Amino acid sequence: MSKTIFEKNSPGRKGYTLPQNDVDFSLNDCIPAEFQRKAEIRLPQVSELDVMRHFIELSHKNHFVEKGFYPLGSCTMKYNPKISDTLVNNSAFTQLHPFQPDADVQGSLKILWELQNYLAEIAGFGAVSLQPVAGAHGEFTGLKVIQYYHEAKGNQKTQIILPDSAHGTNPASASLCGYEIVEIASNDKGMVDLEALRAAVNEKTAGFMLTNPNTLGIFESQICEIAEIIHAVDGLMYMDGANFNAIMGIVKPGEIGFDVMHFNLHKSFSTPHGGGGPGSGPVGVRADLAKFLPSPQVAYSESRDYYLDDSHAATSMGKVQAFYGNFLVNVRAWFYFKMLGTEGVKRVSENAVINANYLMRKLEKYYYVPYNDNCMHEFVASGQWQKKEYGVHTIDIAKRLLDKGYHAPTIYFPLIVPEAIMIEPTETESMETLDDFIQAMIDIAEEAKTSPQTLHDAPLTTPIRRADDVRAVKELNTCFDLCLMPLTCDKE
Ligand SMILES: *Cc1c(COP(=O)(O)O)cnc(C)c1O
Repeated sequence: MSKTIFEKNSPGRKGYTLPQNDVDFSLNDCIPAEFQRKAEIRLPQVSELDVMRHFIELSHKNHFVEKGFYPLGSCTMKYNPKISDTLVNNSAFTQLHPFQPDADVQGSLKILWELQNYLAEIAGFGAVSLQPVAGAHGEFTGLKVIQYYHEAKGNQKTQIILPDSAHGTNPASASLCGYEIVEIASNDKGMVDLEALRAAVNEKTAGFMLTNPNTLGIFESQICEIAEIIHAVDGLMYMDGANFNAIMGIVKPGEIGFDVMHFNLHKSFSTPHGGGGPGSGPVGVRADLAKFLPSPQVAYSESRDYYLDDSHAATSMGKVQAFYGNFLVNVRAWFYFKMLGTEGVKRVSENAVINANYLMRKLEKYYYVPYNDNCMHEFVASGQWQKKEYGVHTIDIAKRLLDKGYHAPTIYFPLIVPEAIMIEPTETESMETLDDFIQAMIDIAEEAKTSPQTLHDAPLTTPIRRADDVRAVKELNTCFDLCLMPLTCDKE
């Protein structure tokens, strides 16, 4: 067990040296006595090198994509080029004030305007809002557009339909908008069951939410029929675009029946994520729905150059975020478009798809793959064989992967596959990395046979062994106390 920084304390050791202060002034002179500390602050006394080593060591206890393969299905934990981080850290972006007059920030407004247009173009929509700051936030915004559309027409709509493979945020967002959720079963190909859909659709249907390719990594090829069924009752088609990285430059959702869609810039477009870092979930809509989008939009005209346009404020749902969303995340996406160009963006998707199919074909002899037609950018395997034959569960397989230096795939999602192991390699991984991972998965399948106890005991080499997954939620206070512990431990 490594030491806490407090245990590395060495009285008198410092991380800095400064010349003797020859100014007769103390900050304490400015702060009334009653607000001043009663006791000395207890901070660890360590050198700069101690601090560096301490935090570098801590960072390695975690997993990150620069350290190893991160095949977390649905989350697209690809390697994002560092150049985007470097560029957005330029003070021309970081030192802007959101209240600066339009005339002072023409360059930045132009970037936002172009990004709106790139996203609209690549997905086939009439307008895009950059305000939402997460995928789920985009869902909420997109569903509000649908709600405003129905209200404007006087439609009495109360239900949103979604398939049982949907991401949990879909029903949550619909419910937040006050809709009733109608869930329909998928067919034996893992796609929308048209009969079930027809049976669920009626005059109350406000819209249908669909991820395409869906969370099983399968392209919903009946999308045109689905859109027809929904549009026949004046419902709108919502696309969850979290999996857009499989079809960029290949399919335009706005041209195959979708009316509204969100993008996850932090999945597809170059923002590193995880741990709840900043995201961006822009929403694209059909041209006639643009008037309901959040206001203002970034606009351009010959006479005004780039400016913030709130001319649709009267019909807009209003703001969903301060200013224009997560500016720097949006700028990263703009750089990514500029760097890759039309062809490059398409190649991202092609390589993501080919990597996933390679993994699936190599692993399907060892792990059950319930829907094994060619997949898109990810596929869902299952630990069902290992469970039935050797009593080994998917959680054991996932924990054993940690010992081998990999982040585990997404497990137990989507809910319709028992013992699900959802693998998304992304386009940024080489064939050598994929081959090593395949070997690790094969070794684990072998271990399930020869020493299942090792899998039950895994992970064996990580800083902590198997964590109690739910304790952190159920005992908030305990966790809070644990976090604070180093601050209260008094070693001297
Ligand atoms: C990630 C994801 C979301 C939610 O996006 P967040 O940015 O995490 O809010 C929604 N749907 C699918 C399919 C996803 O993978």
